[in-house]
Amino acid sequence: MEEVGTGLLDRLDAMQRVAASAPGGPMLIVAGPGTGKTRTLTHRIAYLCAELGVFAEHCLAITFTRRAAEELRTRLDGLMGPVASDVTVATFHSLGLAILRENAAAAGLPKDFRIADDTEREAARKEAGDDDAAYQKLLRNQDLVDLDELVTLPLRLLAEDADLVDRYQGRWRWLFVDEYQDVDETQYELLRLLCPPDGNLCAIGDPDQAIYSFRGADVGYFLRFAEDFIDARLVRLTRNYRSSAPILAAAVQAIAPSSLVRGRRLDPARLDPEAPLVGRYPASSATDEADFVARTVDDLVGGLSHRSLDSGRISGNAAGISFSDVAVLYRTDQQAAPIVEALARAGIPVQKRSHNRLRDRAGVAAIARELRLAGPTNEGQLPARVRRAGQLLAERFATPTLDSTGSPSPADVWSAVEVLTPLAQRCGDDVEQFLSQLATGAEVDALDARAEAVTLLTLHAAKGLEFPVVFLVGCEDGLLPLRFFDGRTTDDDLAEERRLFFVGLTRAQDRLYVSHAQRRFRLGTERDTGPSPFLDAIDAGLFERLGATEERRPKDRQLRLI
Ligand code: ATP
Ligand code: MG
Repeated sequence: MEEVGTGLLDRLDAMQRVAASAPGGPMLIVAGPGTGKTRTLTHRIAYLCAELGVFAEHCLAITFTRRAAEELRTRLDGLMGPVASDVTVATFHSLGLAILRENAAAAGLPKDFRIADDTEREAARKEAGDDDAAYQKLLRNQDLVDLDELVTLPLRLLAEDADLVDRYQGRWRWLFVDEYQDVDETQYELLRLLCPPDGNLCAIGDPDQAIYSFRGADVGYFLRFAEDFIDARLVRLTRNYRSSAPILAAAVQAIAPSSLVRGRRLDPARLDPEAPLVGRYPASSATDEADFVARTVDDLVGGLSHRSLDSGRISGNAAGISFSDVAVLYRTDQQAAPIVEALARAGIPVQKRSHNRLRDRAGVAAIARELRLAGPTNEGQLPARVRRAGQLLAERFATPTLDSTGSPSPADVWSAVEVLTPLAQRCGDDVEQFLSQLATGAEVDALDARAEAVTLLTLHAAKGLEFPVVFLVGCEDGLLPLRFFDGRTTDDDLAEERRLFFVGLTRAQDRLYVSHAQRRFRLGTERDTGPSPFLDAIDAGLFERLGATEERRPKDRQLRLI
């Protein structure tokens, strides 16, 4: 750790410094990917505490995924030292859970209420039919709350109790929200209750990375901010520190047709004249595409390090790329299977996480139940206990009985154990924290950033992250943008798909590869596909064509609407 306070702002550029050192009051930071929004947020907290006498315990930083929250925590520890632990870092769900725990009685909940797992939700749904009130009652009778209620219940509590609002506004006087573009209505209303109209709320985001409108998120809250919070200061950051110039140029061109930011500017801070162009590989099939990924990863990691050894070079970029530097991003989970197979065949280690909720994975709920039942009698380190629970369940489910229909298979259980182990490691011995993370977290949260493996992610799960090498696979019309047969795709849907494409491109630091297959198996049949129209927005000069397959467009354009 550097000496607290000294040089904090030296590590920021002029505009970032303005944002980090601004006095209190509402502030909106609107800036593109890789411009240091998250970096500015952490430096602002550190600066306020070190230089302006703000108490760390008065600071609340909110993000969307557990993984992002951990990242904030780590960066704050590095900048602030031990006092960082007084800053509250939360996701909307964990914040709601904390408020409910502190006010369980007022919310009509017992002290030891739990979040319902899948089986419990399904059972209640079945019994309640369409009746949403009845559904809640059934959960409540078992001391359970639904995941969605972690925001709605605290919202209701605060809306009805002015004293409680005062109490929380007194506790958290400085609020920070990262990835603000993905805020939905209940989350926004909760923010409005936690922060007075002239309060110290710093919201940070990029409208062009809004990718959750299908879940109710609304970029309209950027506009609402200026209406609901008084004299809001607006800061823009325009220098991108993440990506090489060709990657950034491609991304900027890709988003241009539907950018929501008027006069969007994104200037490259990195101007390496040697930077490689964006690799573009037209594959004949999904298998061919997967083989391309495996071959290229092997060349970059294995090949280059051998070569650099041959030539006697010890360091440098060539030898520096490792498996954990590489991510493969795709639109739908189904695309992962051929890639996993090809990488496995090439002996390349892989970790795959989708954006599904953890508890939706077969086996996770069973393990959670087993841990809860075993309770305090179950001793030892958490990962060992998870493994033991898995062992027990795998044995139990190995011989199906009439009772176990619908139970996870032993393979499901083992794969759940594999996903949960890094998360359990990070929770130490805290079973409660572990169980609440299982209930509220997404699979990406369990991802281990240090694992020496290629990371496979959906585009949705990749937001906020960065990797030296990125493959964006399946850049095909119908898949990215994703389209359906029934013609339900609207202009808004297409714009959101384009933003998703933009998020994907901007995860890359040094090397970016886009690929598309001429034929792909989807919805039960193999179909002809064409390259994504999103690629057309990018200058051909920014691409380096890879491979020999000639590109062709399918004759019948209707066929592309899959
Ligand atoms: P996203 O929209 O994808 O979340 P972001 O705006 O939050 O991106 P950061 O993740 O904070 O961007 O920063 C991107 C990268 O650029 C990081 O590796 C960060 O350390 C680096 N960076 C940001 N600002 C600077 C700076 N002033 N000097 C050097 N590096 C910087
Ligand atoms: Mg960020």
